[in-house]
Amino acid sequence: MATPTAGPHSIAEFVAGYESARTIRGFRCGRCARRTATWGLACSQCGGPLEEVDLAQQGRIVAGTVVAVASDEFVNEAPYAYVVVELDGGGRISGWIRGVGTEELIRPGTAVRFAPSYRPGLQFERADPGGTRPDPA
Ligand SMILES: [Zn+2]
Repeated sequence: MATPTAGPHSIAEFVAGYESARTIRGFRCGRCARRTATWGLACSQCGGPLEEVDLAQQGRIVAGTVVAVASDEFVNEAPYAYVVVELDGGGRISGWIRGVGTEELIRPGTAVRFAPSYRPGLQFERADPGGTRPDPA
């Protein structure tokens, strides 16, 4: 695999930032102001220049599913929900919510917030945690 090239914002720095940051990084178009959670060099909507910004830390679920059989990395978390979240102000991103065993808890439109932790990936939690398994950590 080729090493990502350095630029105004390199993909290597972007990925490293995700792994250490307590924020959700993304991009804002300098021409049309569209926000995206996807790394790029130009706006996918208008071709304008992108600047790296912090995206909102809350949003709403647009899709999700319950995972009962997990990969090794998440074996202690099952069941959990894998979700796609539309962040307030723009940017659509995938993440997961621990302690969710039923799709009733992750219906589209459910409000969630970013819940940074030592666990892998982008972890979210329901703004109203009712019905989720409490965190033993
Ligand atoms: Zn644009």
